[in-house]
Amino acid sequence: MTVCEKDHCTGCMACVNICPKCAITIKDDIRSYNAEIDENLCIKCDLCHRVCQNNYSIVFNPPQHWFQGWAEDSELRKRGSSGGVASAIMSGFIKNGGYVCSCLLKDGIIGFELTNDPGIIPCMSGSKYVKSNPQSVYKEIKSLLKSGEKILFIGLPCQVEGLKRFVGDDLSEKLYTVDMICHGTPSPKILDIYLSQHGKSLETLKDIKFRKKDQFGMDDGFSTITKSGIQDTYLMAFLNATSYTENCYFCKFARTERVSDLTLGDSWNSKLGYLEVKKGISLILSQNEKGEYLIKIGNVHLENVDIENAVANNAQLKHTSIKPVERERFLSSVQRGKNIDNTVMRLLPKRYFRQLAKIILIKLHIIKRRAYSNIN
Ligand SMILES: Cc1cc2nc3c(=O)[nH]c(=O)nc-3n(C[C@H](O)[C@H](O)[C@H](O)COP(=O)(O)OP(=O)(O)OC[C@H]3O[C@@H](n4cnc5c(N)ncnc54)[C@H](O)[C@@H]3O)c2cc1C
Repeated sequence: MTVCEKDHCTGCMACVNICPKCAITIKDDIRSYNAEIDENLCIKCDLCHRVCQNNYSIVFNPPQHWFQGWAEDSELRKRGSSGGVASAIMSGFIKNGGYVCSCLLKDGIIGFELTNDPGIIPCMSGSKYVKSNPQSVYKEIKSLLKSGEKILFIGLPCQVEGLKRFVGDDLSEKLYTVDMICHGTPSPKILDIYLSQHGKSLETLKDIKFRKKDQFGMDDGFSTITKSGIQDTYLMAFLNATSYTENCYFCKFARTERVSDLTLGDSWNSKLGYLEVKKGISLILSQNEKGEYLIKIGNVHLENVDIENAVANNAQLKHTSIKPVERERFLSSVQRGKNIDNTVMRLLPKRYFRQLAKIILIKLHIIKRRAYSNIN
């Protein structure tokens, strides 16, 4: 028996956190997640069904203010995937006496940490383009909220919804939430397989980055994981929406109305000029007073944004990612243990050979090698 309709599970983990008998396990078969209930342990309390975001209608709020901007602290801006706004807000929140909870690589898992140590923020900055695992962090957050602490959670919209539902309205006053505009996430098993095919493992990596500003490519903090100067095939499949779990293709959160206090994304096609674009610009949607407070304590530089342009350049504010025809063949091939580089070359030849052409142009000194490439 599953907590919600088969293959609709987002992996938010609210049901796993709430079950008093530890009877729920998230099953990941690469194609989809399912929250399975062990009927031998289940006491039919129904808490899992009630907390699951797929079993009730979600309340969305329209943004009150739209901005584009960046962290005033240039180091934080540099580290972020776009304008470093998430790190700036985490830093400001801790300075103001709060705890933050966000995503990082730890002990081989892309999971979450709850902390008031500003030294951890650099590990949390940057987008990890994979389904992250909240594990038991909602329980830890609830317990700190009960003791009167102020907490900021930054994650994917489905995780924000899962946490809010788990915590409940009574404890929500001191909970602040930030979600990312998200176009979908692959199972971490695909990342594990990809890394192992390149002689790496999350278990031994100290850090993992998936992009530097508008240039996509995996990096372990010291060097690129595959060829320097081009997109790797993991990210080619990701950017083509080929590798996501099933639920992402009917995501409820791909819309302008949001479930968080503040939403962050990329300010694609910003008109602020090449130099600012190169340094990174975030798109910022504030839904309420808590959102305004986060911007203020984050010391975020704000600029006006053309909303029509922002939405036109960010498909996930309008609709979910569309499942490409190659997805089934991609996933079957990965499951059969085939090489991901070869699979992507076969299934996404245009993307693949554009990157290959780029390597040749770099070798011939016709174009310069940059650490990563956003050539799609
Ligand atoms: C899976 C994913 C898909 C995205 N898709 C889009 C998109 O389609 N359009 C768009 O405009 N923006 C998208 N983003 C957001 C974008 O990549 C930047 O994170 C955003 O612009 C904020 O950048 P920043 O520099 O302000 O913060 P950053 O320093 O990049 O901080 C990002 C924050 O998100 C948290 N985070 C990173 N990865 C994960 C994860 N896997 N799960 C949960 N939390 C995570 C980090 O811990 C950090 O707090 C996506 C992000 C992710 C993680």
